[in-house]
Amino acid sequence: MSTAREIVQEIIGAGGHLWFDGDRVRGRNIPRRLAMQVKADEGAILAALLSAPAHDDYAIEERLAIQEEEKLPLDRGWADVAGFEGLPDLTPAQHGAILHRLMNPPPPATVTCGSCAEFEQGLEPNSLGRCSRTADGLPPVASRGYGVCFPAAPRLCPNYQEAV
Ligand code: SF4
Repeated sequence: MSTAREIVQEIIGAGGHLWFDGDRVRGRNIPRRLAMQVKADEGAILAALLSAPAHDDYAIEERLAIQEEEKLPLDRGWADVAGFEGLPDLTPAQHGAILHRLMNPPPPATVTCGSCAEFEQGLEPNSLGRCSRTADGLPPVASRGYGVCFPAAPRLCPNYQEAV
């Protein structure tokens, strides 16, 4: 016969969650056999959850911390975080959206040589010109687009300089 603490550890080891709600034990993802044992001896399980030895167990403490965190209100506020004072409070979903955007930056905007300060106009309007960034007048190797500098052709170019 397992002790209450052993039952708690077995549940946590199986990926289940246990927490107390007043004098009741609540659980999630608990194997049926263990759930029946919890039900049969709820008082001892509650005592095991609350007992000091159980709290000394790192795994149990970690689970309890996660469960406590799950119970926090969505809005945790920034007021006590240095450098973030005064920023609007964000929900976890908003945090997630910001992280997603940071990890998936939008593709760079396309430009045209014709709108770039580095572009040297050809003899005729809209004709082939030169890029002043390179000795041969061709677009820099790191740029993407036409192999030559046409004023209106779309281009991705790290050397683009907005003409003023
Ligand atoms: S720096 Fe890039 S965008 Fe500007 S003229 Fe040269 S190739 Fe075109």
